[in-house]
Amino acid sequence: MRIATITNWAYGATVCLTIASGVAMLMASNAESVERQAVEQRYVFDQLTEEVEVDAWALSDLARLYVIKQDPAVLQSHRQKAASMAKVEHRLQKLKDVGASDEELALLHKGLQVADALQDEQQTAIAHIARGEQAQAIALIYGDLYENELEQVQSQLDHFRQMLDRRAQGAIQDAVEKSHALRTLSEVMVGLTALMFLFVLGFILKRRVLHPVVRLSDVVNRLASQDYAVETPDYRQIDEIGDMAHAIRIFRENGLVRQQLEKERDAHWETRALLARMTQRLQGCESFEDVLNVAQLFAPNIAPGVAGRLYILDRDPWQMRCAAEWLNPQGEPDPFHPDQCWAVRRGQSHPPVNGEPDITCYHLPDACANQTLCVPLIAQGEAIGLLSFQNITPEMAPSRAYLELMAEALGLALANQRLRDALLAKALFDPLTGLRNRHHLEDALHTQMSQAMRSSNPMSCLMIDIDHFKRINDRLGHDAGDQVLKSVAAIIQRCVSDKGMAFRYGGEEFLALLPDMDEAAAFACATAIHTAVRSLTLHYELTEIGPVDVSIGIASYPQHAQSDNLLRAADVALYRAKELGRSRIVSFGMLEAG
Ligand code: GH3
Ligand code: MG
Ligand code: MG
Repeated sequence: MRIATITNWAYGATVCLTIASGVAMLMASNAESVERQAVEQRYVFDQLTEEVEVDAWALSDLARLYVIKQDPAVLQSHRQKAASMAKVEHRLQKLKDVGASDEELALLHKGLQVADALQDEQQTAIAHIARGEQAQAIALIYGDLYENELEQVQSQLDHFRQMLDRRAQGAIQDAVEKSHALRTLSEVMVGLTALMFLFVLGFILKRRVLHPVVRLSDVVNRLASQDYAVETPDYRQIDEIGDMAHAIRIFRENGLVRQQLEKERDAHWETRALLARMTQRLQGCESFEDVLNVAQLFAPNIAPGVAGRLYILDRDPWQMRCAAEWLNPQGEPDPFHPDQCWAVRRGQSHPPVNGEPDITCYHLPDACANQTLCVPLIAQGEAIGLLSFQNITPEMAPSRAYLELMAEALGLALANQRLRDALLAKALFDPLTGLRNRHHLEDALHTQMSQAMRSSNPMSCLMIDIDHFKRINDRLGHDAGDQVLKSVAAIIQRCVSDKGMAFRYGGEEFLALLPDMDEAAAFACATAIHTAVRSLTLHYELTEIGPVDVSIGIASYPQHAQSDNLLRAADVALYRAKELGRSRIVSFGMLEAG
């Protein structure tokens, strides 16, 4: 029930009780006036009864005195008294007016009749005196009969008086009891009014209003300070407090939703900032390893709790190879054919919607089939890798976009890295022979020489030139020459690969840097190359190319040259080998000796 309703009811009840209490008080005082009226009536009855009694006795005494003395003055008094006395009806009427009952009047009427009979006998005695019959007169009004009648009058009047006493006593008793009861009732009502007041104060104000208002005020203060964890009191009553509690509950729920949205927004901002940072770091990557490190570091932060693997497409053999993983994904990181992944097949994230039935990629372990997401890494319309996530739940649906953005950034970074590697290979390697080119030589020479100087180790250089190469070109064509170049380059590469570095120095000239090798070791290496080239049997189409020969010049640091002229010394030795007739090995040391 609403507080306003309770207050109105309490107010109405208080007013009713006050009115009822007032009425009871009035009735109580009315009962007192009834008591007073009963006393007054009794007094009037007493007066009238005494008047009748006194008159009866006075007339009787005057008649008896006259009969004895026969004094005319007494007779005169008797007559006056008898004349002044009211008639029986008149007296009864007066009593009736005052409130005597019929029974009482009947009783008094009997007495008055006897009194009238006494008057008649007195007149008879007076008549006897007038006739000189004193003895008869005395016998009449002093006789037993007259005495009996006189006592009868007295007895009737006493009886009447007793009856009046009883009635007056009863009326007074009734009035007193009634007055007492009404007073008690009035007091009870006043008490009830006070109780009602106390109830309204105590229950309504304290329990229904004060306590809840204090509690709600506390909740409002905490909500105002954005403490939405506060529990709102569950006041379900239909009143103003219930309305307030309901409003506060809605306010808190809205606050919680807002807080949740803000948290999500902050999380989004955080994720976007992470993505932006990851993209920046990817742009700064200089190798595949850099890209993999960045992916391994950022992926678990962008999608917390989501384990995953990064696969890269290898072209030889054609397969997806796991290059990085984070948060211990299930299953083995075995390589697999790209067709085993639906995401790679479709060129889109798979499954498209989380939680709904869909075909599972064949490369995934069965245990986590329903909680995975594969995102292909696309570059120039081609899947060059794959991000495979596990522990994906439907609640993470909004994060899918971030995972896809991550895949996009990683795909671009890997493609850039491939491009960079390709450009680097083009810039540093000779496309025909696959050997390092002259640009690479400068850096390599500088590095190797610095290392040799630091470690005081020797280092040698072979300068290799194909003999009469022009003739091959001239005889069989440029393509045949290219084939010879490739074959010789392969031999040189094979002979120095585990000991040093091979370069195409230009045209049909090659160079080998041999760290930690002195002249003798370099000579052995040169001999191996020279022998291998000489034993080549080459064909161009159906024609045999014929024997191929090389001249080799050797120079060693620090034996023959210092850091800045090692190449020059080797070139001089080569020149000398040409001079001596080609197909030979000449060391710079031999020049000095000879
Ligand atoms: P020598 O024994 O004195 O070294 O004689 P040579 O014929 O080997 O040397 P020469 O410098 O006279 O000729 C080198 C030739 O190599 C000239 C050039 O046309 C040819 N040549 C240079 N680069 C290439 C190439 O990439 N492919 C082909 N097929 N020929 C090349
Ligand atoms: Mg040459
Ligand atoms: Mg040559």
